[in-house]
Amino acid sequence: MNTPLPSHARIVVIGGGIIGCSTAYHLARDHQAEVILLEQGKLTSGSTWHAAGLVGQLRSSASITQVLKYSVDLYKRLHQETGLETGWKMTGCLRLATQPDRWVEYQRLATTARSFGMDMHLIDAAEVQRMWPLMEVSDLIGASWLPTDGQANPSDITQSLAKGARMHGARLFEGVRVTGFVMQDRRITAVQTPHGTVQCETVVNCAGQWARQVGALAGVSVPLQAVKHQYVVTDTMAGITRDTPTVRDPDRRIYFKEEVGGLVMGGYEPNPKAWDTGLPADAIPDQWEFRLFDDDYDHFEQHMTHAIARVPALNDTGVRQMINGPESFTPDGNFILGRTQECPNLYVGAGFNAFGIASGGGAGWVLADWVVHGEAPLDLWTVDINRFSDLHRDHAWVRERTLEAYGKHYTIAFPHDEYTSGRPRIVSPLYERLQGHRAVFGSKLGWERPNWFAPPGIEPRDVLSMGRQNWFEAVAEEHRHVRTRVGVFDQSSFAKFELRGRDAAAALERICANHVARQPGRLTYTQMLNTRGGIECDLTVARLADDHFYIVTGTASRTHDSAWIQEHLPARSEAHLTDVTEAFGTLSVMGPSARSVLQGMTDADLSNEAFPFGHVREIRIAGWVVRALRVTYVGELGWELHVPLAGTGEVFDTLMAAGRGFDIRPAGYRAIESLRLEKGYRAWGSDITPNDNPLEAGLGWAVKLKQDTPFIGRDACVRAAGSALKKRLVAFTTTDPAVVLLGRETILRDGTPVGYLTSGGFGHTVGKPIGYGYVRHEGGVEDGFLHTGNYELVVANERFAATLHTTALHDPSNERVKG
Ligand SMILES: Cc1cc2nc3c(=O)[nH]c(=O)nc-3n(C[C@H](O)[C@H](O)[C@H](O)COP(=O)(O)OP(=O)(O)OC[C@H]3O[C@@H](n4cnc5c(N)ncnc54)[C@H](O)[C@@H]3O)c2cc1C
Repeated sequence: MNTPLPSHARIVVIGGGIIGCSTAYHLARDHQAEVILLEQGKLTSGSTWHAAGLVGQLRSSASITQVLKYSVDLYKRLHQETGLETGWKMTGCLRLATQPDRWVEYQRLATTARSFGMDMHLIDAAEVQRMWPLMEVSDLIGASWLPTDGQANPSDITQSLAKGARMHGARLFEGVRVTGFVMQDRRITAVQTPHGTVQCETVVNCAGQWARQVGALAGVSVPLQAVKHQYVVTDTMAGITRDTPTVRDPDRRIYFKEEVGGLVMGGYEPNPKAWDTGLPADAIPDQWEFRLFDDDYDHFEQHMTHAIARVPALNDTGVRQMINGPESFTPDGNFILGRTQECPNLYVGAGFNAFGIASGGGAGWVLADWVVHGEAPLDLWTVDINRFSDLHRDHAWVRERTLEAYGKHYTIAFPHDEYTSGRPRIVSPLYERLQGHRAVFGSKLGWERPNWFAPPGIEPRDVLSMGRQNWFEAVAEEHRHVRTRVGVFDQSSFAKFELRGRDAAAALERICANHVARQPGRLTYTQMLNTRGGIECDLTVARLADDHFYIVTGTASRTHDSAWIQEHLPARSEAHLTDVTEAFGTLSVMGPSARSVLQGMTDADLSNEAFPFGHVREIRIAGWVVRALRVTYVGELGWELHVPLAGTGEVFDTLMAAGRGFDIRPAGYRAIESLRLEKGYRAWGSDITPNDNPLEAGLGWAVKLKQDTPFIGRDACVRAAGSALKKRLVAFTTTDPAVVLLGRETILRDGTPVGYLTSGGFGHTVGKPIGYGYVRHEGGVEDGFLHTGNYELVVANERFAATLHTTALHDPSNERVKG
């Protein structure tokens, strides 16, 4: 390092790989931020220099696809600004299918692409052969073809971004390792290095596979695992040209791309090898600049065999080089971005699962915006670091799940597929009891949750398929049971918080879009909004006392929602948030007979007059004081019973005994999904996200615009209310009952795409497939517009007649509000 380090910088980016350089570039270019970047070795010397350079764009999330599309746009034109080429070539990408289920996957993928504004074509084997003459195509059903994908040179992109960052005023330092942080009140005040200490306001951890240990210096968990990832580079081959499309052959677990007239070929093994560094806590060594592992031909042979079968000319082609490098992978295959809960001025951009080159440009763009504004510029939930929890501090668990995720990289994406490793991890006190009822469990944030219950004669396990799956009829029965009699759901995994203190009510009024500081004993369904009016949280707030609130939210939102509340509590307010998730088990008793069953178990008066909808009471059941919340997400009469954890089993047993005469039965999460679709309850993360405001989502009734109370997102809601909405969430049913809706299907109005489904499933009372989605129209989406069109849904590339609904599909009169 020649230039001395400054003693102060507003923002310090750690890591000079593609992600750090892209983040520094965007911070400097888009926000004129005062930023320095510290790289322990040379720029690109981590994972970036040895990447293969394939750049794909389509993901299952619209926002992440947008991020990847941005990368391509940037790589195309960056040289015009910096004078340094990125090596971008739009070769297009072929994905090969040799199995019928894979073909259905591509038909769905092509529809998703269309929903997200991209043209993916499905072509036959003869067309593949024409585009790629060296390929053996006799086993192909066909291929998908995305012409706008391509490849680029990872080091060149990074150097170009670094130059661009400098041109906009960023300062980049090589040979400077960050060794520690000076912390005060959970925040970093300075970054320590052997070359001096830099005072700063914000730190961005883009340290690649080192991000876990860099995060740990600030007490932050960054759950990733370095895995050995290999590819070979061949000698030149006649028939391979600069324009040869990249190829993914997932049924053979391999990929190809052109490189100086030969091929790069790599793959994803079902039996990946983690990098066991042998250092304490499996730390990545400091000294790993431009280094690789020894070639591992034994492990790679599985790919070589498949590659030769696919491209026989490889038999006569020499291998010029093998690359065996480490890359960081994550437990769910998505990368990690955003503000950390543990240290609010530390952001992370890491864990890129071998698509960091494809993501780099866009990830830097959104991360820079997030850093500067303190909130994500679009719905980045699938990559948000706050999708993880304390569970992910267990590195052994993270490693096991990450290796499973790596092994699934190229497997067929069957709907409703569940991970199997590291389970069971967190179980409710009812786990064994529910097993006794033949529960089939899924897992969410480590919790085992009953998805469905197998009737006698049906094996209690999911049998995956692309069409209707084996649980369909069993779930239909559970659904009908809840609609007509009574069911009990174990929802103990709900995240639960308490906010206590003199200022708790005022703080929540500021954070929540709905009026929540009602009388003690009331509960309110509300959203929490960002400054754009986008929905960040969707939860129930129960007021237990003047200074005591009980907050219930979805299992997966636990870290995210608690971080959101914590970060938005007004400074110096007396309001203390505690996570009490594990203190209470949750039994939701739902259905027309719910009152009759419960009334037999408690002295409390459960009549509608004494205990109306939207109220919370402490009642005594089986000797336990239970928080009973009169809410529903399935649209039936019912209560959520929040029981002290130790009493959950006993209360369940009493409930099952008291309910025998009413034919009570347990039901699972797949029934909840079907029930809520019919009643029009929105699901956060799919139907309602930070991209959508409550008015667009049909939740304007839950926003306190008629009151003067200020709240975060109010201005945006006022603006939205004062002008014509350009998109609106509505429901669709298809006339054909056999259609399988999953989400991302394209909505056509009079033959023109106007949006896509955000969620989909089947309503067993109405007997129809149901999907939700935003219909978009620049000229406004008032009822007149919505109800005049002819609608179709494109499902797996086929068009089906559909009916649009602006109200709930099943009688909404029972119990109105979600909890
Ligand atoms: C074999 C292989 C093939 C791949 N092929 C592709 C592909 O085709 N397409 C694709 O999109 N992706 C591919 N990838 C993935 C891609 O290489 C990575 O996702 C990407 O390079 C990650 O970039 P990064 O900036 O996060 O990490 P890195 O490039 O590792 O950068 C992190 C930097 O942080 C620095 N650092 C760490 N700790 C400190 C510290 N304490 N202080 C200062 N600096 C620090 C490191 O020295 C390093 O330079 C491939 C990866 C491998 C291994």
